[in-house]
Amino acid sequence: MSATAHASGHSDTLPGRLREATGESVFNCYQCGKCTAGCPLAAEMDYAPNQIVRLLQLGLPELEEEALRALSIWLCLTCETCAARCPQEVDLPRIMEYLRQQSLARGVVHPKAKDILAFHEAFLATIKRGGRLHEVGLISSYKLKTGHFFQDVLLAPKLFFRGKLKPLPHAIPGQADVARIFDRTDRAPDAPLPHGRGSEGQGNHT
Ligand code: SF4
Ligand code: SF4
Repeated sequence: MSATAHASGHSDTLPGRLREATGESVFNCYQCGKCTAGCPLAAEMDYAPNQIVRLLQLGLPELEEEALRALSIWLCLTCETCAARCPQEVDLPRIMEYLRQQSLARGVVHPKAKDILAFHEAFLATIKRGGRLHEVGLISSYKLKTGHFFQDVLLAPKLFFRGKLKPLPHAIPGQADVARIFDRTDRAPDAPLPHGRGSEGQGNHT
């Protein structure tokens, strides 16, 4: 495929599939850098937020792959600061979320993102099971995945006695509907969710 086809967001390219799944076009970005200037995590990232967009704009598959391998996409907190500052209304958090899904699907997650990914998966698993977050289930699953059994363990009694940790999950009326949404997105990871959202509710690694 030609660089022109890549640069125009052809549906066979990562920017093209991103646009189909989320409605976001990386070609609206003119690299002003306002997103990066306001990003609280930019200093920790291997590629600044505007650089992630630039990697996708250049029409080179190897640079698209570089974006999927970046640590930045896993550090993004989905805080929306960049989106609020962008003069072109580029929704970078939505782009970051799509890149996380694609990075995971292609097995190119940055090695330093292992714990973040474990949290991401534990978070989604507890939502899928119960329809809403269950903190004890989330913490247990995260510790099993990472082996960080004693991390923050002294906080647990304080949280428990303040009523912040419930041993058992609460069932919600729409539990089956939530599970169906997960099943649907598992089957078609590129398919847009209702309202065109990439995967609302995953939050920051969410
Ligand atoms: S603020 Fe918007 S237009 Fe400017 S570099 Fe960031 S994404 Fe691009
Ligand atoms: S949403 Fe992500 S990329 Fe945007 S400002 Fe927040 S942390 Fe940075």
